[in-house]
Amino acid sequence: MSERHPAYRDVSDADWNDWRWQQRHAVRSRQALEKLVPLTDDERAGCDDTAAIFRLGMSPYYLSLIDRAHPFCPVRRQAIPVRAEARVAPGELEDPLGEDKTRPTEAIVHKYPDRVLLLAADHCSVYCRHCTRRRITKGGEAELSKKAMEEAVAYVASHREVRDVLISGGDPFLLSDERLEALLAPLHAIPHVEMIRIGTRVPVCLPMRVTDALAKLLRKYAPVYVVTHFNHAKEITPEARAACERLVDAGVPVENQAVLMRQVNSSARIIKELSHRCLAMRVRPYYLHQMDVAQGLEHLRTPLRAGVEILEQLRGHTTGLAVPHLAVDLPGGGGKVTLQPDYVVERIAGGTVLRNFKGQQYVYPEPTETDCHCPYDEVWLARGATAADAA
Ligand code: SF4
Repeated sequence: MSERHPAYRDVSDADWNDWRWQQRHAVRSRQALEKLVPLTDDERAGCDDTAAIFRLGMSPYYLSLIDRAHPFCPVRRQAIPVRAEARVAPGELEDPLGEDKTRPTEAIVHKYPDRVLLLAADHCSVYCRHCTRRRITKGGEAELSKKAMEEAVAYVASHREVRDVLISGGDPFLLSDERLEALLAPLHAIPHVEMIRIGTRVPVCLPMRVTDALAKLLRKYAPVYVVTHFNHAKEITPEARAACERLVDAGVPVENQAVLMRQVNSSARIIKELSHRCLAMRVRPYYLHQMDVAQGLEHLRTPLRAGVEILEQLRGHTTGLAVPHLAVDLPGGGGKVTLQPDYVVERIAGGTVLRNFKGQQYVYPEPTETDCHCPYDEVWLARGATAADAA
């Protein structure tokens, strides 16, 4: 088990491993934090200057992962604000992904043709300093009411093109099993909903919440994919690993979406280690996100080229499964695009010159026939493709 902060050494194992105890004892103020972690001047000012902007909070478990002697500990940088977070840089947006423009009901964001985001909760087990949905998690919006949930389910039911529902928030795993089931059951019953995804940091920040009962509940409504959010190998503790493996063992696939943060995980070595450690616990590295253009986050943003350079040092140098997609969510709601190093050197008559990860060049000969229409596809579609597949 990972080491506890000395202040928690006398807590019984039963309490420590109880996620509700962890929630009740979350550290939520600068005064409480300062008794446990010697803060730098920058952090002390950061806590005070951001108090009216965004919640402070972390579980005793996540706080125990902080290196109390180093201000650049990656867990610390994700959990404790610094002064720069209170500044709004030019071009930064409160709603960086334009989600509120595409919110047909209180709980639904419908931006892409075949999938919706369902905002199920406004609270989290840690308030990540890089959160780009802080307009929701800063407080003020409440846990999804029964009426809002019914409206959300009715919206999905009446939109046959929606085949994928991503439940997020806030952190949906902070809902009780009963409330989670009250959401999963009606969504699962909608014939055109082919899959449900749940976005959560619980395996990272509150792994004791992933109980056998939760894993069994998710399996019952398969296919349910858990999309979690490890940003650094330091977060992959025995507890986090057990939580992920409990889900996978129950038949619930787990994927990781990391966020690239300057001076936290902005190196190929760190991302490679993170990917390898994820794969070792059967979590697939899925996305590496360029930081969104959200208010107060400029100090954590990397230049776009940094992510591309990281991919350049991963692709070919390690297994393809360990290479995440580098995604940029376009400011204002343009949607995601992915970036990668350019391996095309030039196009020549009859072929394309490509370079490999060692910089060696090869010619890929183009075929003479170029019609890519698949004649059997009309037959296949006539046999009953879904509305989304046919679109
Ligand atoms: S868990 Fe997710 S939603 Fe909650 S604060 Fe962290 S990044 Fe934001």
